[in-house]
Amino acid sequence: MRLLFQGVDGVTDHSSELGATVPCPSVPQSLEYLADGDVLHEECGVVAIHGHPDAARMAYLGLYALQHRGQESAGIATADGQHLANIKGMGLVSEIFTDEVLQKLPGQMAIGHTRYSTTGDSALLNAQPIRVESTKGLIAIAHNGNLVNLGTVRARLERDGAYFQTTSDSEIIVQLIAHSRAGSLVDAIADSLRQVEGAFSIVMMTRDRIFAARDPRGFRPLSIGRIRNQDGPDTIVFASESCAFDLLRAEYERDVLPGELVMVTEDGMTSRQYATGVPQSSCIFEHVYFARPDSRIFGRWVQQSRDEMGRQLSRESGVPADVVVPVPDSGVTAALGYADESGIPFRFGLIRNHYVGRTFIEPEQRVRDFGVRLKLNPVRNLLEGKRVILIDDSIIRGTTSRKIVRMVRGAGAKEVHLRISCPPTISPCFYGVDTPRKQELIAANQSIEEIRKFIEADTLAYLSLDGLLKSCDGGEGNAFCTACYTGNYPTAWVDVDEILPATATA
Ligand code: SF4
Repeated sequence: MRLLFQGVDGVTDHSSELGATVPCPSVPQSLEYLADGDVLHEECGVVAIHGHPDAARMAYLGLYALQHRGQESAGIATADGQHLANIKGMGLVSEIFTDEVLQKLPGQMAIGHTRYSTTGDSALLNAQPIRVESTKGLIAIAHNGNLVNLGTVRARLERDGAYFQTTSDSEIIVQLIAHSRAGSLVDAIADSLRQVEGAFSIVMMTRDRIFAARDPRGFRPLSIGRIRNQDGPDTIVFASESCAFDLLRAEYERDVLPGELVMVTEDGMTSRQYATGVPQSSCIFEHVYFARPDSRIFGRWVQQSRDEMGRQLSRESGVPADVVVPVPDSGVTAALGYADESGIPFRFGLIRNHYVGRTFIEPEQRVRDFGVRLKLNPVRNLLEGKRVILIDDSIIRGTTSRKIVRMVRGAGAKEVHLRISCPPTISPCFYGVDTPRKQELIAANQSIEEIRKFIEADTLAYLSLDGLLKSCDGGEGNAFCTACYTGNYPTAWVDVDEILPATATA
C-alpha cells in the first residue's frame, strides 16, 4: 500500500506541499473492490477533533464508525499548535492507520476523511484531507458532498493565477480562501463558502483552529458532539453521523446548521451564520440508504425513518404473503416496520457475506455473474413453498434486483413480491451521490409494469413520495431534496441534458 505523508517528521519531502509518496511496508497490499455497477455508492464521511491528547486515534475511531460512507481512501491530518501533519492512503481506515502510522500524527487537533470518489479521479492525490499552503497560512480540509458550480469557479480562479494541485472540490474552497480579500481567516472562509454552490459539509484545520460548516441548504449531515473532561476543557467532536460519537463516548450536542460556520479554538466554540434565507433541502436518501440506522441525522433517528417507511409501504401496497424478507443490510429496518405493520412474519431469508466487496478481486469478466451470489445466499428452508415479500431500498438499473428475485424463486419461493422503500429513482444526483446517468436508470425509461416484468417479480410497488416525506419528517419540520425521485433540483448549475422529464409513468 502507498501512503501520502505531508508534514510528517522524518518522511516528508518538504520541497513540495503535496508531500512525498512513500511506500509503507507495514500495511498490507491494497485489494480491488467488487464492482457490480448496480448499486448507489456511498459518498464521504468527515470527522474533526479539538482538545484531545491523542486526537489522531480519536479521528481514526470516528472514521472507523463512518467507514460505510466510503471505502476507497482515508486520511487524517493533525495539528499541535505549531505543525500540521497529514497522512492518507487508499483502502479501508483500519488498513491504512496502523499503530505505527498513527504515531506519526501528533497533536491535540485532528480532521479525518473517508472517501468514495464522486468528483476528481480515484488517485491518492485526490484523497483527503487536502493540505494546502495559502496566503492565509497552512490549511487542511476534508469535504463531504459535491459542488455544482465547480467549473465556473475554477476557471475564474485560474484566470486570477490559481494553480490547482488536485481535481477535488475541496481545493476549490481552499483556493477561494487564499484569493479572498477578507482580512481575517474566518471572514475569508465565510466569503469563500458564499461563492460555491452545491452540497458540502466540511471540516477544516489550521495549526491552531478547527472549523466546521454546512452548505446553506444543508444537503449533507454534520453534527457536533462533546466529551466532558474532568480536569480540563471539553473535547469537541464533529462527525458526519452521530454513530461516530457513540464509539468516541461523546454526547451528541446538536447539528451544525445549514449555512453555519463553527470555529473551535483554545477559548471555546463560536459560530456565525455565513448564509441565511436559503430554503433547506437535506438529502432524503441519507434516511433511505446512506446513513446508519443508529445515527441521528437532520434531527431524526434514521432507524425511526426506515421503520416508518416499511410501515407506510405496507399500508400503501400490502399483499397477502407468508414471510417478509429484507435484502440485507439496508433493507432490514424497513422490512421490520413492514412486518410489524402487516402482521406477516419477518425472516432473514437472504444472508449477506460481509467479507465480500472489499477483498474479492474480479479476475475475469466471466466471474462477474457471480456478483450477487457472492454477496447474498438464500436460506432455502425459510423460502421454499412460501409467498415472499422482498423489501429493498432501491432499483437502479434493475439487473441486481432481477438476480435477487431469481435467487429467491430458485430457492423454492411460490411468489415473489418486491417492495421498494422509496419512490422510483428517475434522475441522477449532482450533490455527492454516485448515480448512473439518466439513460441507465431503469425507472427513468420504463413504467413500473415494465420494470416488474424485467425483474420477473409477481408484483412490484414503490413507496409514494408523500409516504417517504412523511416517514422522514416525523414532525421535525425538515425540508428535503427529492431530486432523484422528482427531477426537481434545488440548485441551478446542473447538467440540463440530464434532467429532462422521466419517461416512466410512475
Ligand atoms: S438528488 Fe437524491 S441522492 Fe442527491 S441529494 Fe437529492 S435526494 Fe439526495
